[in-house]
This record gives sequence, structure tokens and C-alpha cells, in this order.
Amino acid sequence: MHEAMLYDRLDQSRAGCNICRWRCRINPGKTGVCRMYENLSGRLYSLNYGLPSSMAVDPVEKKPLFHYFPGSSVFSMGSWGCNFKCSDCQNWQISTAGEPAVSSREVSPEQAVSLAQQYGCRGIAWTYNEPTMWFEYTCDTARLAREKGLYTVYVTNGYMTIEALDTLGPYLNAWRVDLKGFRDDFYLNWCGIRNWRGILETAEHALRRWGMHVEVVTNIIPAMNDDEEQLCSIAGWIAGSLGNLTPWHVTRFHPCDKMAAGGSTPLETLEKAVKIGREAGLKFVYMGNVPGNRHENTVCFNCSGTVVERDGYRTKLTGIAGSKCKYCGAELNFRMGQEGV
Ligand code: SF4
Repeated sequence: MHEAMLYDRLDQSRAGCNICRWRCRINPGKTGVCRMYENLSGRLYSLNYGLPSSMAVDPVEKKPLFHYFPGSSVFSMGSWGCNFKCSDCQNWQISTAGEPAVSSREVSPEQAVSLAQQYGCRGIAWTYNEPTMWFEYTCDTARLAREKGLYTVYVTNGYMTIEALDTLGPYLNAWRVDLKGFRDDFYLNWCGIRNWRGILETAEHALRRWGMHVEVVTNIIPAMNDDEEQLCSIAGWIAGSLGNLTPWHVTRFHPCDKMAAGGSTPLETLEKAVKIGREAGLKFVYMGNVPGNRHENTVCFNCSGTVVERDGYRTKLTGIAGSKCKYCGAELNFRMGQEGV
């Protein structure tokens, strides 16, 4: 087991975890809400370090990240557990695990970086479950990955504390964050958390303090977060706080986990969300989980030229020059390797 990086030693041998906004106060012999950090005699340990649940080579578009090294492959790693309890979790087999499976094969940070290079990946992403669940491992691996010229990505629910982000910030390039809704009752009832506005603070910090590339995903669930009020609030916040060149992915919900009996998001709802995003001033609103839809390509907002064509995970760069439109020179917020990775 690996000692946690960010915790306070409290009275009566309790440990105060500072990795995510739950800020669990954990008694000896107990674990935090996520069940991936355990207090042993007053010291906090990660139960997950170097124990992936899953590893794969993915197109970066699958994260989804559309404006970050488009067309590149990313070595993707997931672990166990989660600090949310979302009713629509696609990966509930790993996110609801109380502990790493006994069959987990240990993969050191050095081995992870080596595997990424061996498979020709440009970067490493922590994804599939919430990356803060093995925060120490992602820090160690990200530092090594950056030394070797690989980019690094968190696919996250965004509930990390500012001090955790400041610990990881020097080694992390991209923050792909879910903004699942925009109301207290939604986050409480659907995800089981309070203080969800911390997600906004951390995302802004990722962008402004650390210069990370940020893309936002909202999975639109019928009767839960598909009302105009929440969609307008999300789009307005992205445009106002992260900037109108920030990509927003509105994705189709498909029944799963505890919602197995419900229906998929109607296409009209997704079209409505795209329209709301555009009316809020967002220049790049993408529709996801709908194969072949007309909102997958990147079209320059200034000259209407198609600069990236996408078909599923096939990507063709047709009009990008650096971060700009090749046809008219408009800034399109792409990162193509200019940051030295
Ligand atoms: S990472 Fe886990 S133990 Fe730490 S504060 Fe969050 S839920 Fe609690």
C-alpha cells in the first residue's frame, strides 16, 4: 500500500483526506466515502496504487477530446471506485467496487509510460473511473510521462480539491470534465454529492492557474437535466467562465445501471441543447453517442470552413494550421503539440 499524499493527521488517530471535496474524516481501520483510502493507525493509505482495472489504446476522440491532439492515440488507464454514486454510470462494475479485484496486475508508473510508448501513443489518460481514486499513482505517472514527452489527461467528474489540483497541475495537460447538471437537487439525487459548485471552481483553476486544455461533457438524461434552465446555465457558465472557444459535448444517454428500464435521450432534446449552446455564444458544441450526426465535425465559426472531419473515431484534419483555421486564420482553440509534448 502507498501512503496518501494529501491528508491531515487528526486527533484520536483520525485522518483528514484532502484529495476530493468530500474531505472525509476517517477513523482508524475505516475507509473514506470512495472506499479507496484507508486509515491504518492514523496514517492514510491508497488501496489502489498501481492496480489498474482496465487499460486500452484509445483514440483521444473517445474521451471525448476533440481539440486536443486530434487523431492521436492515448494510453487509457482506469482503476477502481468512485466518489460519486451516479445512477447512470456506464462503468459501474469498476466504479462501485469496494476494493481492487484480487486479479489486478500491478503496473508501475515506469511500466505505464513504457507501455504507452510501446503502443505508439502520444499521451496517457486516466479515465473509465474517477482518476482521483488513485491520485498518487496518477501524479507519479504523469510526472514521468511528461519527462518522456507524452501528454497527460484527466477524464474527471471534477470534484477534486484545489490543493490536489495544485499538486498535479505541473504534470497535467488536459482537463476533460463532466458538468452533469446545474442544480443542487440534481447533483444530490443523481450523483449523491453536495457542494457541486466546487467543480466549477476547480475547472476554472485548471484553465487559469495551470493553462490546461479544458473540454466539458454533459450527458443529457431525460427528465433529469434536460430542462432549458439547466442547459442554459451550463452553456452560459462555460462561455462566461471558461471562454466561448471551449468545446461542449452534449451526449446521448442510453439506459444502464440503475436506469436500465428508461429510454434514450430523444434526438430533438440533443438538437435543443446544441442550439442552446450556440445561443450562449459557444463556438464548438458537439453531439455525442449519435453515430453519423451532423454535429461531429469542427466548422470554423468565422468562415464556415470545415477544419476537422469526424466519422465515429476516424478523424481527418482538413483545415487546421496550428491552433487556427487554415482558411481564414481564426483562433479555434486547438492544441496540436505546440506545448512541447
Ligand atoms: S478521495 Fe475518497 S477518502 Fe479522500 S476525500 Fe474523496 S471520497 Fe473521501
